[in-house]
Amino acid sequence: MLMKPTTPVTDLEKPKVSLFAPRRKIYPKLAHGNYRRLKWILMAFTLGIYYSVPWLRWDRGAEMPGQAVLLDMAQERFFLFGLEIWPQEFYYVTGLLILASLGLFLVTALAGRVWCGYFCPQTVWTDLMIAVERFWEGDRNARLRLDSAPLVKRLLKRSLTHASWLVIALLTGGAFVFYFADAPTLLPQLITGSAPNEAYIFVGIFTFTTYLLGGIAREQVCTYMCPWPRIQGALVDQDTFLVTYRNYRGEPRGPHHKGASWEGRGDCVDCRACVAVCPTGIDIRDGAQLECLQCALCIDACNEIMPRVGRPTGLIAYDTIANQKAAGGGGVTMPRLLRPRTILYSSLIAIAGSIMLIALLLRNDFEVTVLPDRNPLFVRLSNGDVRNGYTLKILNKQYRTRHFALTLRNPEEGRLSVDNQNTGYLRVPPDILREFKVYVAVSKNAQNDAVILDIHDPVSGASVTHVASFRRPQG
Ligand code: SF4
Ligand code: SF4
Repeated sequence: MLMKPTTPVTDLEKPKVSLFAPRRKIYPKLAHGNYRRLKWILMAFTLGIYYSVPWLRWDRGAEMPGQAVLLDMAQERFFLFGLEIWPQEFYYVTGLLILASLGLFLVTALAGRVWCGYFCPQTVWTDLMIAVERFWEGDRNARLRLDSAPLVKRLLKRSLTHASWLVIALLTGGAFVFYFADAPTLLPQLITGSAPNEAYIFVGIFTFTTYLLGGIAREQVCTYMCPWPRIQGALVDQDTFLVTYRNYRGEPRGPHHKGASWEGRGDCVDCRACVAVCPTGIDIRDGAQLECLQCALCIDACNEIMPRVGRPTGLIAYDTIANQKAAGGGGVTMPRLLRPRTILYSSLIAIAGSIMLIALLLRNDFEVTVLPDRNPLFVRLSNGDVRNGYTLKILNKQYRTRHFALTLRNPEEGRLSVDNQNTGYLRVPPDILREFKVYVAVSKNAQNDAVILDIHDPVSGASVTHVASFRRPQG
């Protein structure tokens, strides 16, 4: 049989398939209810903390920064109220981050994306930007109508919205740099144009990113940029409380006419109020979705509708999959808070927290490092004695000048000198790392291969002992 010749399809002729979903504009409606109230309160709380913390003062003495929370990049230190973290102690910050991550895992295993729904900066600022947009342009229906309104009206309202977003973004960027410098000093400098260039650059970067991510990109950040929605899939299970549409109660759905029977149908009247308030524009009735922030606004929306049609609230609610399955069969399950994963996360939090606490309680208020000289390893003195040199570094974490006593414990017959002077006391000014040149000389017949140095603060009574190697000629 003769085959009909086919014309090869070139790459140019292949139908184009976009790898990106087109953006759907979302017009979230204002929800009313307990979760919306909770979100307003948490928004005020989290924004209040962010904007006010740099202005909190903390008395550390005359020469020290008076800001309670300060990331002092110039001095390489992090001040957190009464705690001062040096670069050598960065493990405290690592420990805090580990604790925060484990806490997030535990909360997610118990109640889903609580972080995303209520506390994440992206959610909080987006919520604020939407509130501003609603203030200038009206609620959902008014904003929908504005899209086809005369150009001048549209331009005026949208300009007011974007100008307000830029002011919020500027205040956000401005507040961020106050964490890195003394806020009451930096503010007038920023206003008068005398602040360092870096401050203006960072204010600019944070103004732009806040405007872009919170005002323009909004839910796109959560859906496409953030890794957390992908990770949380592995952290939730059948017993995690999630914002859920109770399928067994709502279906079959459909419009309901006043006075009509509820027999043979579900409680969902298909009003789409839950979709209208959703900040990511999804329909919770389609089941668990990556886009769902677990903000619970759809619960508020549905709880407003149910009493109006004479049905009990809670068609959308925080519920577990296990309970949903049981309820579908007419049963009910008790929430299982104690599960292998929650026990594991809690245990890890307890272990990491205990280690952090013990490290903090045992934290010395001065640190010592002793580095033997590499070149030369030793020096033979004119009388035949052998001398080793060391760099001794003392970090004084107190806000007072301290005088440390340095003594040679071993070898007892060795001779100690500091900066080619007799030892005496080593003076270290407040809150500073100071270096000293230390020499230990022993007789040519001595056999020691190490030296033991004691560093003691006679005022506080604190002591540190250091063992360092001692090199001598071979043979
Ligand atoms: S589906 Fe409900 S809980 Fe999820 S993001 Fe939308 S409104 Fe929030
Ligand atoms: S708000 Fe409630 S009743 Fe209305 S569509 Fe959503 S689930 Fe159904």
